[in-house]
Amino acid sequence: MFNLILFGPPGSGKGTQSERLISKYGLKHLSTGDLLRSEIAGLTPLGLAAKSFMDKGQLVPDEVVIEMISSALDNNPQANGFLFDGFPRTTAQAEALDKLLTQKGTSIAVVLALQVSESELVKRLLNRGLTSGRSDDTKEDVILARLAEYEKKTAAVADHYKKYDKVVYIKGEGNIDEIFDSLSDAIDQRRRA
Ligand code: AMP
Repeated sequence: MFNLILFGPPGSGKGTQSERLISKYGLKHLSTGDLLRSEIAGLTPLGLAAKSFMDKGQLVPDEVVIEMISSALDNNPQANGFLFDGFPRTTAQAEALDKLLTQKGTSIAVVLALQVSESELVKRLLNRGLTSGRSDDTKEDVILARLAEYEKKTAAVADHYKKYDKVVYIKGEGNIDEIFDSLSDAIDQRRRA
């Protein structure tokens, strides 16, 4: 099994690159943002509880997303590997993920961290808001809150995996195909290791 985390701030291109990576490497895509939005669309109690955090650009409580990921892992016993997108977003989530994977006899092989400047992120997110149908992409104050949550709580996730020498930084600005090639090269190196 080969499991990877595609890491980076909102707007760094995780969704776009995930789509390509899962089809190239046959991985199961687990995006907590997508899972939460489908809970909201289904008007489930979990979705309704999560929505109030998401509308403000705040992180949903750890136990909610950890439980969601735990079920998703259990529901995909046949997967060759998982691509985690938008998860883990706190050190507590990273520790919980490591534990869940250990219980399944596997682990995170690599954390690919996309690096994009803040001005470019805001521009991309506002632009995405024109077509994504996501209310959290249309308001600049919500975008700034999401970026602040990333700095305050999520950036530390890279430090957690750096301890295990699992983080590879990738320049996330420029041509989409070139970024994809850099991500693929990093994966191929780790798969050979
Ligand atoms: P995303 O689609 O990854 O940008 O996530 C959209 C929103 O969903 C975030 O701003 C958070 O409110 C919530 N969310 C997604 N993933 C997580 C997570 N791992 N932990 C907490 N909140 C999350």
